[in-house]
Amino acid sequence: MSQDFTIYNTLSRKKEVFKPVIPGYVGMYVCGPTVYGEAHLGHARPAITFDLLFRYLRYLGYKVRYVRNITDVGHLVDDADEGEDKIEKKARLEKLEPMEIVQQYTVGYHKNMEQLNTLPPSIEPRATGHIMEQIDAVKKIVEQGYGYEAEGSVYFDVEKYAKDHDYGKLSGRKLEDMLENTRELEGQSEKRSSADFALWKKADQTHLMQWAAPWSDGVPGWHMECTAMSTKYLGERFDIHGGGSDLKFPHHEAEIAQSVGAYGKESVNYWMHNNLITINGQKMGKSLGNFITLNELFTGKHELLYQAYSPMTVRFFMLQAHYRSTLDFSNEALLAAQKGFERLMKAIDLLPRLKPANESTIDAGKLINDTWGAMQDDLNTPVALAHLFEGVKWINAIHDGHQTATKVDLDKLQKFINEFVFNVLGLTNETDNAQGTVDEKFEEVLNLLLNLRSEAKANKDYATADKIRDQLKEIGVVVKDKKDGFEWEIIE
Ligand code: ZN
Repeated sequence: MSQDFTIYNTLSRKKEVFKPVIPGYVGMYVCGPTVYGEAHLGHARPAITFDLLFRYLRYLGYKVRYVRNITDVGHLVDDADEGEDKIEKKARLEKLEPMEIVQQYTVGYHKNMEQLNTLPPSIEPRATGHIMEQIDAVKKIVEQGYGYEAEGSVYFDVEKYAKDHDYGKLSGRKLEDMLENTRELEGQSEKRSSADFALWKKADQTHLMQWAAPWSDGVPGWHMECTAMSTKYLGERFDIHGGGSDLKFPHHEAEIAQSVGAYGKESVNYWMHNNLITINGQKMGKSLGNFITLNELFTGKHELLYQAYSPMTVRFFMLQAHYRSTLDFSNEALLAAQKGFERLMKAIDLLPRLKPANESTIDAGKLINDTWGAMQDDLNTPVALAHLFEGVKWINAIHDGHQTATKVDLDKLQKFINEFVFNVLGLTNETDNAQGTVDEKFEEVLNLLLNLRSEAKANKDYATADKIRDQLKEIGVVVKDKKDGFEWEIIE
């Protein structure tokens, strides 16, 4: 198996052939949730995108260390380093300990992630568990001259950094524009420049969470945790850093500056960003009333939803789009995804029951190569799925007798589907455990009855034959006699 594939590097703005720092091993870090509320649609997309990458890398034979953090302190309500901590705010509102909020929503997040069939990361570090590492990194940045203390807080000196390095290289922003946009803050802040960001924030006595540091009792700045924890678990140079595209600025831009500031070099080889989800063409936001949590989505309990959508429908829906495209969420699009997913699962159920022929009219090898080829091209799932659905067509055509396949080809297809659909795309057949077996048993029992009816007819016992037909009709199963047997359908 070739381990070659390309990924789009947000930093270089082009597709690059992936080469790991250590052959055979991949270190990847993905920014996880700030756990102050239920997981929503915006959490599902990065989780599924990087789960796909994790699964694909493992399929290619890499040993992967996948680190996804939990932010449980330091993420403020606004990006200007002035607002309240999101978790503290929620704790105050609910009159709970911050760690109770963290626990409640971490458990909820894990449950939703399991429903979406995302694999747990190899390490899931928490910001509060790595205060010492963050303080150490802040010290290094101050020692290198890129951080300064002001009234107990420590800030990153962006203007100084920008003289030596390219601040804005990831997000494509220019420092002049950043300063232009935030000029009104000037003079009201202890920061030297409005572009500076907090590495450590002094806490006042009302803060529920605070730790002792050389500068003050306080909390780390939000961007610090990812620099400290990625370095701790993946080293000063690692392969992939991922997250949603909304994190490019300021979060990831700040991470690059912090690594250079603390360790003298950038830590990430490939920056990967999934694009955002819109809802009926609009950005998702609490104020717009289109904020949909995953629990609401899975139960249908939201006024925008026509019905409940299963976790696999949602996963399939997201895989139908390339991770770098925006994805518009609507009932129509989800219903179409549900239909497509059901069609796929039906064909997969049918596959082991197909009768092999002496010759194949299909080219299974080409289909399999084309599908993996699409995955090698920056995880192009929409193209890969288009090839897969060619296979779905074949399966149905073989079943209907319009195409044929040899045992070798059918086995090849089966192996491919197990690897691609279940292991790499991470889809599961949701009907497997419950509904599916009931449906199959129902069909078997019905056929048993109808065969008895055929026997009765053959024996000229029309009374029994009609009785079976009429009573089935009463419960909604309509039987039609045909020349060479019978047909039935369920009338709702
Ligand atoms: Zn992060």
